[in-house]
Amino acid sequence: MTEVRSGGAQGVPFDALIVGAGFSGLYQLLCLRDRLGLNVEILESASGVGGTWYWNRYPGARCDSESHAYCYSFSDALTQEWEWSERYPGQPEILRYLDHVAERFDLKRSIRFDTRVTGATYDEESRLWEVTTAGGERLSTRFLVAAVGCLSSANVPDIPGLASFAGRWYHTGEWPHGGVDFGGARVGLVGTGSTGIQAAPVIAETAAHLTVFQRTANYSVPARNAPLTQEFRRYAKEHAADIRRTMHTSYNAHPFLISDRRAVDTPQKEREAIYEAAWAKGGLQFRATFRDLLSDPAANETAATFIKNKIREIVKDPLTAEKLAAIDHPYAAKRPPIDTGYFETFNRDNVTLVDVRATPIERITPEGIRTRDAEYPLDIIVFATGFDAMTGAMLRMDIRGRDGLRLADAWAAGPRNYLGLQVAGFPNLFMVTGPGSPSVLCNMPVPIEQHVEWITAYIDHMRRNGLSSIETTEAAMDAWVAQVNEAAAATLLPQASHSWYLGANVPGKPRVFMPYAGGMPKYRRICADVAANGYEGFVLGA
Ligand code: FAD
Ligand code: NAP
Repeated sequence: MTEVRSGGAQGVPFDALIVGAGFSGLYQLLCLRDRLGLNVEILESASGVGGTWYWNRYPGARCDSESHAYCYSFSDALTQEWEWSERYPGQPEILRYLDHVAERFDLKRSIRFDTRVTGATYDEESRLWEVTTAGGERLSTRFLVAAVGCLSSANVPDIPGLASFAGRWYHTGEWPHGGVDFGGARVGLVGTGSTGIQAAPVIAETAAHLTVFQRTANYSVPARNAPLTQEFRRYAKEHAADIRRTMHTSYNAHPFLISDRRAVDTPQKEREAIYEAAWAKGGLQFRATFRDLLSDPAANETAATFIKNKIREIVKDPLTAEKLAAIDHPYAAKRPPIDTGYFETFNRDNVTLVDVRATPIERITPEGIRTRDAEYPLDIIVFATGFDAMTGAMLRMDIRGRDGLRLADAWAAGPRNYLGLQVAGFPNLFMVTGPGSPSVLCNMPVPIEQHVEWITAYIDHMRRNGLSSIETTEAAMDAWVAQVNEAAAATLLPQASHSWYLGANVPGKPRVFMPYAGGMPKYRRICADVAANGYEGFVLGA
């Protein structure tokens, strides 16, 4: 293992600082410290590693990528030694995995926990970033890697009266480590995205009453979670290379490919049978049943109708079923949830659905939530209201680049960038899975590994060539933003007008489709070509 020299403390600048110790930051640390031998540390606001899996401890939290794919693939030894217990492991198990990775690769000695980065300013003369933390530290570094997460900035809605609420309230993305006891409580759950859909069935098991406040009805397909058989575990280990190859070929970086069939060309009976089989199998494979689901509205309608009919079959009360099935956007145009007994939960006597699109929440009172036509007394409110996605964590740091340019100003009209990796005016600052990259449309460990390895290779290239700064250009950003828009326009994704992909869930946020929807394999090729062509679109400075 490479010996690291002390950085920062004696005024020696770090070669690199990484912000964030989730999947991205941990691997970035390993690459820069142990493969390149750089003097590097992670700054992490949490008290431990894990990122998403450190913060999201709400009841029912688990992944919707399958366990054998929701992990790193860079180390064959790691793949072979780690045993997943379930098809979709819960939060504690994923956190244990990331903790194991941090221990196994001796990463924790290079991480400063409980350290929130509050600012980063680029100094033109020294070509260094000066990073400030909430604790008052000032650290300088050549490279700054923001591994701050796409879904790490909790979005608590600004509902009047919240401060007056006499009960307890929680956001799922900042869940108390000791858990929350719902026993005998009247619980209000606001939000029916992937999180609310996971949390509702579990909360309903112990709450006296659960009221689900639904603004936008949502699709969901059963997860069919189950313990992994010995046979499957053996298969996943023996075929790790093949699985990796499939993930690298697949549009969404999952370990399965999207079918070649078109829904619109498939006879109805056969199509229904395919949907039935996918429903029975469960999981995000449902989205992969036909290749035209996300490009042809008529094809999408067939999947949407199938799921809406399932909702009506499952939910016994017809009025509740209609509210749940009144979905106003194409299937999978918002990130499609998978669930364990979500729709069935509304058959319980202790669960009520409130349609807050029809009767909006007016305010929170000391007693509970008041909508336009009723008051719901509550002891606990759970906000499953999502995140200021893709840009929130970046903008919560006060980042100032060349000539004092604030990132917040550079992104006033939306997060312009090149390849989701860099922004003009911010030399030597990299984002891992930033806006403009495929990231959130994928099984994320795959794009995370690709970004981290690309950034590592780039920094290595610079060092080998005696270069000290790298920065993208306005022209490269314009061209990339055009490609991102073009890729989105070829899909139905922008049609979910209230999705966080568009920033629509945060009041005042520019409405721009943020992820790159051209698919992970194409994106990987683009990045490889950029590197092969002498880092096209970047200006390298001595
Ligand atoms: P994160 O895990 O978000 O880590 C970022 C870290 O940066 C955090 O620890 C945060 O504390 C730290 N940080 C941020 N700002 C600062 C600052 N200013 N100073 C210091 N530290 C800072 N993806 C999938 O592909 N499949 C799934 O099944 C899946 N399930 C998910 C379930 C939930 C509940 C959520 C919220 C997301 C899920 N995701 C899933 C997306 C998930 O975020 C990624 O898979 C992955 O965990 C992201 O890792 P990351 O390291 O990039 O970011
Ligand atoms: P989300 O998808 O943004 O959903 C937030 C929900 O809260 C939506 O139903 C939204 O309604 C509602 N909401 C927001 N503000 C509201 C308000 N003021 N009043 C009423 N309702 C309000 O957030 P999320 O469910 O936390 O999921 C975010 C992402 O995290 C997912 O898309 C996924 O990528 C990831 N995730 C994955 C899993 C998994 O299964 N692996 C689990 C959880 C999260 P509108 O739709 O009307 O805005």
